[in-house]
Amino acid sequence: MENALTLAQWSRASGLPPLEARALLSHVLQVTPAWIIAHDEVTLDEMSRRCLDALADRRRQGEPVAYLLGEKEFWGTMFKVTPDVLIPRPDTEALVETALRYIPVKQETRILDLGTGSGAIAIAIARERPQARLWAADVSAAALRVAEENATNLLQQDAARIVWCLSDWFAAIPAPRQDSERFSVIVSNPPYIAAADTHLNEGDIRFEPRGALVGGISGGEALQAIAQQASSYLQPGGVLLMEHGYDQGDVVMALLRDAGFTQCETVRDLAGVPRVTLGRWRTDY
Ligand code: GLN
Repeated sequence: MENALTLAQWSRASGLPPLEARALLSHVLQVTPAWIIAHDEVTLDEMSRRCLDALADRRRQGEPVAYLLGEKEFWGTMFKVTPDVLIPRPDTEALVETALRYIPVKQETRILDLGTGSGAIAIAIARERPQARLWAADVSAAALRVAEENATNLLQQDAARIVWCLSDWFAAIPAPRQDSERFSVIVSNPPYIAAADTHLNEGDIRFEPRGALVGGISGGEALQAIAQQASSYLQPGGVLLMEHGYDQGDVVMALLRDAGFTQCETVRDLAGVPRVTLGRWRTDY
C-alpha cells in the first residue's frame, strides 16, 4: 500500500494548479471546495486516492476538468456536460443576457435556440422567463440527450416548455404558416472558428466536438446560413442574436444587414470583447 497522503499533500503531488486539484478533490469526496481548504490535513482513503490519481492523470493528458467532473457551471447553475457537447463558456452569458432584453417577463413568447449543445442557453432563458416557450435544435442526437437531461434536472415539471428538435440549423424546424407560429427571438452560439485556426490544437478545446467549434474554412459558414434563413422564421420585429468570435462583429453585422435586418448592434462580453451581434427583422414588409 502506498503511503497515506493528506489532501494538501495529494494536491501538491498531483502537479495540477491548486484550483483544479481542489475541484477534483471536492468532486471525488463529495464536499465543497471550501471544505477542502478548511480540512486539507485530512488523510485520503485508499479508494478516493485511486479515483483522484486516475482523474489527475487524465487532466495531465489534457482532458478538460468539466469533462472529468461531468459538469460545468453556467448562469448560476450546474449543467451536465459530456464530450458530445461544447463546454458552456462564461462569454456566452452575454448572449443570454442580451437575449433577455428582448423577452418580456409577463408575456408568452416563442424562442428558438439553434445549436443548443448542452442546452445551457435555452435552459437559462427558460429559468429567467417562466412564460417563454422554447424550441431548441441540434444536429447531434447525443447532444440533445444531454440537453434533455439538463432540462429535466433543472426545470423539472417545467421541462416540457422546451421542445427539442434534431435539426441541421433550420432544416427540420417546421415552416411557419402564420405569424403566431413564428419566433420572437432566435438565439444561437454556432460554431464560428476557422478550420485552420491553430487555437483548435491547444488546451481544452482539442477535446470538444469539432462540429460545435468549426464554422467551415472561413469560420463564418454557420453564422451566414443562420443569418440568411432566420427571417423566414421570425415574427415581424423579431430579433436574431448570434454569438461570434472577437473579430467577427463587423462580418456578422454585414451578414445581418444584407439579409434585411435593421437596428443591428454588437454587444461586448464581460471581458470587453465584441461577442454578440443582433438585428431586428424589419416590420415594413
Ligand atoms: N468561444 C469558443 C472558443 O473560442 C468557441 C465557441 C464556438 O465556436 N461557438 O473557444
